[in-house]
Amino acid sequence: MKSLVINREDLKHNIRKIKEIAKDTGRLDNHKPIKIIAVVKGNGYGLGLIPYSKFLIDNGIDFLAVSTVEEAIKLREAKIQAKILMLSSTAIKKEVEQLVENDIILSIGSKEAFDIAEEIAAQKNIKIKAHLKIDTGFGRYGFIYREKEKIVAILKNRKNIQIEGTFSHFSLAFYEKNEYSEKQFKRFMDVIEVLKENKIETGMLHICNSSGFLKFKHMRLNAVRIGSAFLGRLAIPNVYGLKKIGYLKSNVTEIKELPKNYSIGYSNAYITKGQTMVAQIPCGYADGYHVREQRDMFRKRDKLRYIIRDIKDSFKDQSLYAQILCKEGKQKEYKKCKVLGRIGMYHITVAITGKNIKIGDEVKLNVSPMFVDSMIRREYI
Ligand SMILES: *Cc1c(COP(=O)(O)O)cnc(C)c1O
Repeated sequence: MKSLVINREDLKHNIRKIKEIAKDTGRLDNHKPIKIIAVVKGNGYGLGLIPYSKFLIDNGIDFLAVSTVEEAIKLREAKIQAKILMLSSTAIKKEVEQLVENDIILSIGSKEAFDIAEEIAAQKNIKIKAHLKIDTGFGRYGFIYREKEKIVAILKNRKNIQIEGTFSHFSLAFYEKNEYSEKQFKRFMDVIEVLKENKIETGMLHICNSSGFLKFKHMRLNAVRIGSAFLGRLAIPNVYGLKKIGYLKSNVTEIKELPKNYSIGYSNAYITKGQTMVAQIPCGYADGYHVREQRDMFRKRDKLRYIIRDIKDSFKDQSLYAQILCKEGKQKEYKKCKVLGRIGMYHITVAITGKNIKIGDEVKLNVSPMFVDSMIRREYI
């Protein structure tokens, strides 16, 4: 049996750290604290939507954000009462109704979404809470930043929609160059200025995701939306000492000795150099092991970048290791064991020659929780 292990102390450490960083608003009037909105989409980044959300709330987080109606409803069904923001704008009536019934704050990023929300508010004779979504160059959700007059005209007509916030989203905040994020930020602030000139309430302003939050102090505004930073799994250098959350726990299921010149795994990608003791571990890419983020191959400059990186990498030792907890002398300790051959859907074979490893010994694998099948048990220790 496998589980994804989440260390509570490490997670607490990250939450504490992020709160501490958020105390610095980057402004001189540094007194109004920044609200931390915890993004729990994608099964809570793999940490389990409900246990993870509850853990965050127990540690002082009171504002969550999701990407789908299903996630929002699951949180309410679990009796979670925190504020919840639905990050995606939707103009599908059924979805908006379900969100409103569950007291979820809407994102409104189009005339259609606005109209549906007004229609439902009128039918139910209620006020509907929403954040405005501005598209500052992502091309996904939101009113296009250039269409300021259109945004103003739509919002001037509002009757029952209460704007509690206005936000935008970075497309490239993790990138080492910051020009595009700066540009998006300026586009966003220009829209805000026009809304203010037209006496349209903007509510709390937010644009930063984890990378933006950590990198750009002056863009923290009134709130930040944090996902990956809580897991300490960032696409930027981890200068704040955030801890990596989540590892896959399994056990050695079989052990055997292979002769010299024997092939291991699909495609015969590995041939033993001598007699080799190997252990089987029932984990593979279906468990999220060694699943890498997609590569953008459609831009010429990316292609070139990847080719250069691959050449550089080929000089480094690219071996993967599994850590196996075994008895070494009197104490138990984790031993690094090299993965041999290709990774299977549910299997890896590791070298254990000369190590005191037995069937049943515990195995620890570094995985990104986001890629771990939601069927696998989440174990908070
Ligand atoms: C996923 C998401 C976030 C969080 O992003 P991280 O980089 O994981 O912090 C913030 N805002 C929106 C709109 C998102 O979709």
